[in-house]
Amino acid sequence: MGSHLPEALPGPLPAPADPQRLEALANDLRAQGVAVLRSPGELAGLAADGFIYSPVLQPLLRGLGAQLGVRAQDPDQVLRVAAGCARHGVSLTLRGAGTGNYGQAVPLAGGLVLELSGLTRLRHLDPSTGVFTAEAAMPLLELEQQLQAQGREPRLLPSTVRSATLAGYVAGGSSGIGSLRWGFLRDPGHLLGLELVTLEPQPRLLQLDSAAANAINHAYGCNGIITALTMASAAAVPWIQLVLEFASWEQALAAAQRLPALALLLQSLCLLEAPVAALLPWPQGCPAATGQGHRLLLLAAPDALPVLESLLPELGGVVLWQAPQGQSRGIPLRELTWNHTTLHARAQEHQFTYLQLLLPQPEGPALTALRQRWGDAVLWHLEGVRGFGQQRLACLPLVRWRGREALQQLIDQALELGCVLFNPHAITVEEGGLGTVDADQVAAKAAYDPAGLLNPGKLRGWWERGSHP
Ligand SMILES: Cc1cc2nc3c(=O)[nH]c(=O)nc-3n(C[C@H](O)[C@H](O)[C@H](O)COP(=O)(O)OP(=O)(O)OC[C@H]3O[C@@H](n4cnc5c(N)ncnc54)[C@H](O)[C@@H]3O)c2cc1C
Repeated sequence: MGSHLPEALPGPLPAPADPQRLEALANDLRAQGVAVLRSPGELAGLAADGFIYSPVLQPLLRGLGAQLGVRAQDPDQVLRVAAGCARHGVSLTLRGAGTGNYGQAVPLAGGLVLELSGLTRLRHLDPSTGVFTAEAAMPLLELEQQLQAQGREPRLLPSTVRSATLAGYVAGGSSGIGSLRWGFLRDPGHLLGLELVTLEPQPRLLQLDSAAANAINHAYGCNGIITALTMASAAAVPWIQLVLEFASWEQALAAAQRLPALALLLQSLCLLEAPVAALLPWPQGCPAATGQGHRLLLLAAPDALPVLESLLPELGGVVLWQAPQGQSRGIPLRELTWNHTTLHARAQEHQFTYLQLLLPQPEGPALTALRQRWGDAVLWHLEGVRGFGQQRLACLPLVRWRGREALQQLIDQALELGCVLFNPHAITVEEGGLGTVDADQVAAKAAYDPAGLLNPGKLRGWWERGSHP
């Protein structure tokens, strides 16, 4: 098997813009009333993202950053920045809140970094269908609150819901809270349309339908600037946060496999092996973990509670804590799930990194083989997801960093056992996903960014097709 861990930046990359070109672009933008950020202090805030979780990416991405920055206040400013970059041949990288994990928002070749800071409105919510249109940089928490006020909620949210933006989630994220019911962001049916600015000397403001929008979904901002998104929502549910505990790992795993198959309305299911639970902070009132019990975290509809309680003796678990979401103190349960588990574990032990795998079915044999081989070098954190039309278990194991070779061996074993890898130690769209080029993403780049200036180096299919970056 080949290596999954990059040793150098991808692609042929363009050279960073020379000072004359930058000066000309900055002057041009200022003359049009666009404030340009240039000082090292201002640019530092537009540089890194969550790639620090990867010891493979750290040495490659550390120190990379923007040469110019803009915080656009309205769609008109976005058009001016796009026109300016295209005319002056300066690359442009979009940035939401900068919480991506693979350096998605880190410019590999300098250029201008653009935040859409003023585009934060919920433009429309159709009360009869729940379909909404929101601006690109709308904070997800505000989106959630505004939808809830009208009886709706986002179908999917990352555990970074308190910091991330909507366009950043769609362009850079993949799954999260809600994936147990709703699968992945790229599954058809979530993203119904996009408003997009092209990167051309005369930029176009396009309205894409769901079919055309699909090529922009999870493309790291390589093939168009999203200014607004139209998406499906779900009926709001007053979710109950539950922490269950199991003395036996096998019983905990069996419960994680069984519960999503019942007629219970569950929004999230996260299984933490006892040593992982011991590394996390817990909501106020929830007993701290002792390192003995394995914990199953659920977001469940109120009508699921009596059934869950009646099933627990048979499943071998007990309820440790419960509270309505939004009404508990301390850390909310959803900030113990997905990559927040890694965040908290790293706060305790800095050497942890992680992997992202979809487990084969049945999950038991693969997990047993991996646990036997790696012992306490790898600790297990599982998430329930709907994948390929079925209830599945994904995992984000915590990996004690013992060098590239050991990480590659872990990946190789997981692949041999039938796991699907979503590699968090990769820089390109393709390597972070299923490893294959999506021709529609590349065609969209040719149509909306013909000079290849958007987020250079991130779309492998672009340079493989023979174009210059
Ligand atoms: C602790 C932690 C937990 C996380 N949990 C999850 C999780 O549960 N699920 C998940 O999927 N991810 C998760 N992530 C990854 C990340 O938080 C999400 O992908 C997040 O939604 C990114 O949003 P952002 O606003 O920070 O985007 P950024 O990181 O700023 O950008 C992400 C990508 O989107 C592009 N982009 C931003 N705005 C635009 C635009 N207007 N047009 C075109 N492209 C644009 C950027 O260029 C970049 O490539 C987690 C990360 C951390 C650090």
